[in-house]
Amino acid sequence: MVLRCIKLYCRLLMKKNKKDDKEYAVKIIEILKKNYGNAKCALNFSNPFELLVATILSAQCTDKRVNEVTKTLFNKYKNVEDYVDADVLELEDCIRSAGFYRNKAKNIVKSAQVIVNKYDGNVPQTMEKLLELPGVARKTANVVLSAAFGKAEGIAVDTHVIRIANLLKLTNYDDPVKIEKDLIKIVPERYWLDFSFLIQALGRKVCKARNPDHSVCPLGEVCPSSRK
Ligand code: SF4
Repeated sequence: MVLRCIKLYCRLLMKKNKKDDKEYAVKIIEILKKNYGNAKCALNFSNPFELLVATILSAQCTDKRVNEVTKTLFNKYKNVEDYVDADVLELEDCIRSAGFYRNKAKNIVKSAQVIVNKYDGNVPQTMEKLLELPGVARKTANVVLSAAFGKAEGIAVDTHVIRIANLLKLTNYDDPVKIEKDLIKIVPERYWLDFSFLIQALGRKVCKARNPDHSVCPLGEVCPSSRK
């Protein structure tokens, strides 16, 4: 009898905590929306394939550097077919400063081939199909779906989101897939599109990796790491 009561109490406690977690997540989002209401994808692009290329390039590279690289790249390669026919060594040279350029060039060309051969030159608009493209994991697929098509099948987890979601105690994981699962449980679906852009804006302006400025942070009142 006592054991049953303890189990029931634990279940009630867990339910309450889940509700509290959701309220906490919404509070964070509302504050961020007030402060960074127009936050959007920081990568420059003029069509879904360019965004796919930019997002592949952004692995282990800053958005600022990617935008510098794509300024030249998108002038040279105008459409998806240009990448299919690209000389890989020339492409590598163009994207060298984004790092890991051999792998990235290979994935861009192979993705372009799949898109032209299987999807008639159009970037697919579902998570399942995007994940079939070489070099595309959930983060890239989420960015493309949200920023190019206004669709959300999940939450994009990049380095800003990994770091800040942990500081805010929205998750205890380092692994992006596990973090996304945690976030999806507590962030209402209507906010999935904007969540990463809001966190990225905070990460760029205030909650910087080396010196987060707690004193001016709009989340200072609610963030459990603000007093560290
Ligand atoms: S209070 Fe500090 S640690 Fe928390 S989100 Fe703001 S800057 Fe980052």
